[in-house]
Amino acid sequence: MIFVFLGIQGSGKGTQAKLLSKHFDIEHVNLGEYFRKHMSDKSSLGVLAHAFISEGRLVPDEIVCEIVSKLMLCKGNGYVFDGFPRTLNQAEYLNYVYPVNRVYYLELEDNIARERMLSRRICSDCRFDYNLQIRPPKIENICDNCGGAVVRRADDTIELIQNRLDLFHAETQPLNQYYQNLGILSVINANNEIDKIHEMIVKEAK
Ligand code: AMP
Repeated sequence: MIFVFLGIQGSGKGTQAKLLSKHFDIEHVNLGEYFRKHMSDKSSLGVLAHAFISEGRLVPDEIVCEIVSKLMLCKGNGYVFDGFPRTLNQAEYLNYVYPVNRVYYLELEDNIARERMLSRRICSDCRFDYNLQIRPPKIENICDNCGGAVVRRADDTIELIQNRLDLFHAETQPLNQYYQNLGILSVINANNEIDKIHEMIVKEAK
């Protein structure tokens, strides 16, 4: 089973992808997180990815597709992709290697997405994510999970957020039409409670 989450940054793709991967007991693939881990380890991929991510640009398709092909060779039953594909080339590549069962587009207005990203925080050690408005850490700036420092993501500045919103509209939103044509797109209102959205997503998973 292969599921894909599309949606503007801050639309809750990560949260919903995690819930769906638990529901079906399949792998959750979050490339943004994968790159951040490499950047904090200062691996050669991390150094390369940093050059793009620090400017709010997409990592080139060849690099992304190669990573995905390696990840898919490693493990099992199915995948929930969160933040992949983001371009038509990536979507065509995925469709070529593994046909997708269902694609969820989490629809959200830019203004709300911008607010959500500005209040987003992440643990610098265990990578657990927080939102200061709806799910803050119990003790300010300290991770509930591991006691690590809770920080703002380096790319969650006003300028880089705007770059990513613009990129989303230019490069990723056209994928809706691509998946609509394949008859596997579900459009979900992302301005709703987490549990309700999850329920709708499970209902549509065939
Ligand atoms: P995210 O955590 O999903 O917001 O991703 C953080 C950054 O990683 C993005 O702004 C991109 O620079 C890069 N990235 C993540 N997924 C992809 C992808 N599928 N294609 C290209 N770049 C990506």
